[in-house]
Amino acid sequence: MKITSVDVLIIGGGPAGLAAAIELKKLGIKDVRIIEREAQAGGVPRHSNHPGYGLRDLYRFMTGPNYAKAYVSQALSAGVVISTSTTATQWGDDLVVELSGPDGVERVQAKAVVLATGARERARNARMIPGARPAGIYTTGSLQQAVFLSHLDIGTKAVIVGAEHVSFSALMTLSHAHVKTIAMLTHQSGHQSVPGALALSKLIYRYRFLDKSEIVEIIGSSRVSAIKIRDVHGNLSTIECDTIIFTGDWIPDNEMARRGSLVIDPRTKSPMVNTSFVTSKPGVFALGNILLPIKSADQCAVESRRAAKAIASHVVSVSVASKG
Ligand SMILES: Cc1cc2nc3c(=O)[nH]c(=O)nc-3n(C[C@H](O)[C@H](O)[C@H](O)COP(=O)(O)OP(=O)(O)OC[C@H]3O[C@@H](n4cnc5c(N)ncnc54)[C@H](O)[C@@H]3O)c2cc1C
Repeated sequence: MKITSVDVLIIGGGPAGLAAAIELKKLGIKDVRIIEREAQAGGVPRHSNHPGYGLRDLYRFMTGPNYAKAYVSQALSAGVVISTSTTATQWGDDLVVELSGPDGVERVQAKAVVLATGARERARNARMIPGARPAGIYTTGSLQQAVFLSHLDIGTKAVIVGAEHVSFSALMTLSHAHVKTIAMLTHQSGHQSVPGALALSKLIYRYRFLDKSEIVEIIGSSRVSAIKIRDVHGNLSTIECDTIIFTGDWIPDNEMARRGSLVIDPRTKSPMVNTSFVTSKPGVFALGNILLPIKSADQCAVESRRAAKAIASHVVSVSVASKG
């Protein structure tokens, strides 16, 4: 098995991992390596093909793919090593991480390890919704991958479930894929995004907003044909649709945190960190949306730059200790 060493090993090549890596190089850390399981680095913005990225960190209003490209190119110019199609799978002793990539299995000894593996929307299976399991059901993330990366046909009439900010992302993506959004549904009271956004989007996309309502059954055999919903008064109704998008309801991608037996926040399922983003295991840091609540990409990037200072000083102290 190949055995290598590095100053900082960053698991996850999304905005958080990339921003931290760039800042670490600026702070003079020599060997910074990012591990990304997808074929390209960039994280969620890579397939989030609409504007809304970059204001707080790059001071530009960008689409997701352009934002991802800007970060990857900055990281490569700074001398960060990015290993794509490579997954961190297990921990060895202390700060050793086992990777599986195109060249097989590798063990990396790091002075600091950063978990920047992000968060995912809860999929239908984990939402305990009764009814059939037909085709036509997505999360916003899987919808965007199907539309922008795989160029698949999606459907004709959709219902969006959830009313966090990301539901507008689903709305825009459906419109791009020529799918009519009929309704947006949430069990909460009102939309959870910024004031005015709901009214504006209803004006543009012309859909029904149903709050204090929940989905009680998915109907359809091979393909979704309708959903049954219940309002706050217990009234049941049916909406015909061939596509359902489950949005929001985030779960952190905490697999490596759990495998490393890091202390996990029982409420969010994120690894617990202190104010310097250090987890319960010294030398292991966590950044970005693995730490819920969910944040925008630029917030993750700004936070990661701040965290890089603590990571760099940890690396320096480990280097000094090993010399003396
Ligand atoms: C549909 C959608 C629309 C959005 N729209 C906007 C928007 O308009 N503006 C905005 O600012 N934000 C938006 N966001 C939020 C934004 O995308 C996130 O804030 C940002 O991507 C979080 O960055 P991250 O680096 O923490 O995680 P991610 O971007 O999720 O990156 C994590 C990376 O880690 C990799 N990874 C995970 N586990 C492993 C492993 N074991 N080994 C190797 N690699 C691993 C993943 O493949 C992924 O590339 C949107 C999010 C979604 C889902």
